[in-house]
Amino acid sequence: MTIKAEYIWIDGTEPTPLLRSKTKIIPKGGSVGDLPIWGFDGSSTNQAPGRESDCVLRPVFSCPDPIRGGDHLLVLAEVLLTDLTPHPTNTRAQLAEVAGKYAEHDSLFGLEQEYTLFKGSRPLGFPDSGGFPGPQGPYYCGVGQDDIYGRPLVEAHLDACLRAGISLSGINAEVMPGQWEFQVGPLGPLEVSDQLWVARWLLHRIGEDFGISVTLDPKPVRGDWNGAGCHTNFSTKEMRENYDAVVKAAEALGKNTDEHIAGYGFGIEERLTGHHETAHYSQFSYGVSDRGASVRIPWQVAQEGKGYLEDRRPNANMDPYTVTRLIVNTCCAAMP
Ligand code: ADP
Ligand code: MN
Ligand code: MN
Ligand code: MN
Repeated sequence: MTIKAEYIWIDGTEPTPLLRSKTKIIPKGGSVGDLPIWGFDGSSTNQAPGRESDCVLRPVFSCPDPIRGGDHLLVLAEVLLTDLTPHPTNTRAQLAEVAGKYAEHDSLFGLEQEYTLFKGSRPLGFPDSGGFPGPQGPYYCGVGQDDIYGRPLVEAHLDACLRAGISLSGINAEVMPGQWEFQVGPLGPLEVSDQLWVARWLLHRIGEDFGISVTLDPKPVRGDWNGAGCHTNFSTKEMRENYDAVVKAAEALGKNTDEHIAGYGFGIEERLTGHHETAHYSQFSYGVSDRGASVRIPWQVAQEGKGYLEDRRPNANMDPYTVTRLIVNTCCAAMP
């Protein structure tokens, strides 16, 4: 018996990489370690020159394919050079190194992926004829056809992720019409990042069936409309036991802002303006319950004296391998 394995990888498009995938027919059975290495034409993905075009795909994560069903698989692969060393675009390999170095801290992440649905050139809920919907206010976690756009796609995506075994912890409608969020985690840095990439792939793929395009653009509409972020919730075992470690992590993030802002997604200056529930990208702050701060400590965490923090700065279009690497690197170095 054979199955269809959809090999998914992250390309070399700049400034923000795209997802790619193609199908391999393979014998049924085995774990991710048994899935064959494969290859692709890197000259078509901004990952190789035409004269030396081969790039290698090595499976790192697989799950049931909720679209094809049966025993078919989704296979997330990392990109290698032909000498089997990591390709320069392979940010997962860099994370693996840092995650290994700080493994004893048992880092966990919950990622809040915001995204915007588009029909043609306009977000869902924006009139085709031009002009704008009513101002923000009723859309966040709203209900009813005057305020909510795209729910059938969103529900189909939620079901697909759950069938695939992806650890979603929830979904909600967002502040701008046509904008939504799903949360992945809490999971370790490699796991949460692999699962976020597969969940993103499923979102784009299901969008095809609905004739709706999905964008992770951090500022899909100029003006008085919220941008799209990927708030990154983070804890170490020390933080889950004691509040001082939560404060230590927040302080450490405040001492390494340039490197973090540079790695938090292209166009971050457009989104972190100091308005629309953001802190200005040039001014670091943290606070309990404060959605206008760069880093928020949830009120329950302050009350219980332990838990996690929320880095509100990462863009929707961020690379989770890079964001989780930066946070582990900065915060774990500051742990007792
Ligand atoms: P918000 O109020 O900011 O919208 P959400 O409910 O959307 O918060 O997201 C919170 C995220 O925090 C969830 O993904 C959840 O899994 C994650 N989370 C909860 N506890 C922890 C923890 N100890 N470490 C890391 N992430 C956590
Ligand atoms: Mn949220
Ligand atoms: Mn949100
Ligand atoms: Mn949040």
